[in-house]
Amino acid sequence: RTKIKNQTVLVLGFAQSGEAAARLLIKYGARVIVNDTKPKAALKSTEELEALGVHFVTGGHPISLFTESPCMIVKNPGIRYDNPIVEEALNRKIPVVTEVELASWIVEGTMIAITGSNGKTTTTKLIYDMLSADQKEAKLAGNIGLPACEVAETVAKNEYMITEVSSFQLKGTVQFRPRIAVLLNIFDAHLDYHGTREDYVQSKARISHNLRSDDYFVYNIEDETVALVAAESEAQKIPFSVKRRLPTGASHEGGIVYWNNEPLLRTLDIALPGVHNLENVLAAVATVKQSNTSSNAIKKVLGTFTGVEHRLEFVKELNGRKVYNDSKATNILATSRALAAFQQPIVLIAGGLDRGNDFFELTGSLKNVKAMVTYGETSEKLKEAGECAGVPTIKSTSSLEEAVQEAYPLTDKEDVLLLSPACASWDQFKTFEERGSSFVSAIEQLK
Ligand code: ADP
Repeated sequence: RTKIKNQTVLVLGFAQSGEAAARLLIKYGARVIVNDTKPKAALKSTEELEALGVHFVTGGHPISLFTESPCMIVKNPGIRYDNPIVEEALNRKIPVVTEVELASWIVEGTMIAITGSNGKTTTTKLIYDMLSADQKEAKLAGNIGLPACEVAETVAKNEYMITEVSSFQLKGTVQFRPRIAVLLNIFDAHLDYHGTREDYVQSKARISHNLRSDDYFVYNIEDETVALVAAESEAQKIPFSVKRRLPTGASHEGGIVYWNNEPLLRTLDIALPGVHNLENVLAAVATVKQSNTSSNAIKKVLGTFTGVEHRLEFVKELNGRKVYNDSKATNILATSRALAAFQQPIVLIAGGLDRGNDFFELTGSLKNVKAMVTYGETSEKLKEAGECAGVPTIKSTSSLEEAVQEAYPLTDKEDVLLLSPACASWDQFKTFEERGSSFVSAIEQLK
């Protein structure tokens, strides 16, 4: 952090995390230029930041930004590496980092970082709840909290900062060093951003690059790619497995969860549904056990935690049907995991943005699906996949609201009515949260 004093730092992209980064950099004595393609009038808090000395360049990414010789660029994770301004920075050998890098420079307490293709938010929240239930001071950062570099400043030595980190954020790290790193799983994902699977895997692996022998690496031993990353790590390795009892770490066999080979609780006592969530539970147990969290606190949380909003979230019981909102399932894998979570017959609502996915990958997961209602851009493609899987009833509609109206009459008592779209939401909604909330209000309006 001393390297940035009196140096120019360019903050690319002025969303919430860009603002937090700009404030932090000013505090540490940097000259800060914020650059965003939006016009200045569309950005918040600009006057306040200008008063602190931040300089704004808006409406594009002019090459003239380099005349100020920035020593570093703090890039919004969403800005791609093939953006000409980023390419130019890399050509000029200027380090391009994300705000989690800054956070790790300044945090004084114990930083726990969680990554994986799926399950990050759920695991992050589980860890937070378990530490809090054990009277430990914990703060959430990232997707379900405030930007990491804003939270990092407020975390005292004896406190915990629990940070969800994406591959986009990790790609922009250099010295990032959490004290406990968690790697849940690695599937092919975000190839549009990363270009190659290798780049995606390497980005995820950055979570453990700087760990030392007194740090901990919690990892899914059943995921081949994750296990390869773990093999390279210098940290103390804490494995977890949903498939077999392990001599050390967190594991599951025959309906019992074990910690270091000792029974901890029954899976029946876990409120979260699904094997995928059991993975998240084991990861959380393995993590909080490194901080001596009591088994009682862990059990208390697992008995009551029913999921994070929009992630296989139990909405309500409606005339004997259980309604679940899994709007966050924006890819095929997440939807197949959601479908595997239930024994009962399912009426599935799916659809959304067409990214050219092959929905025939979903056919193996549709066994329990008695009816499917598809909607949005991918409506027809999903319908074809359902037909191929032999789903008895399939309807296609144009909107989510209509889909809910069509789906409810197809349910019987004891069935599950599930929104798990297998697609991004952007064809009809701004975010997956907005989609999930629309689903819940359409359910509320059912007569
Ligand atoms: P993330 O933050 O990584 O996107 P979430 O906890 O928000 O993960 O869950 C997103 C979706 O992924 C959920 O809807 C769920 O169906 C699925 N999911 C959650 N955990 C896992 C897991 N461990 N493995 C595979 N899929 C999962």
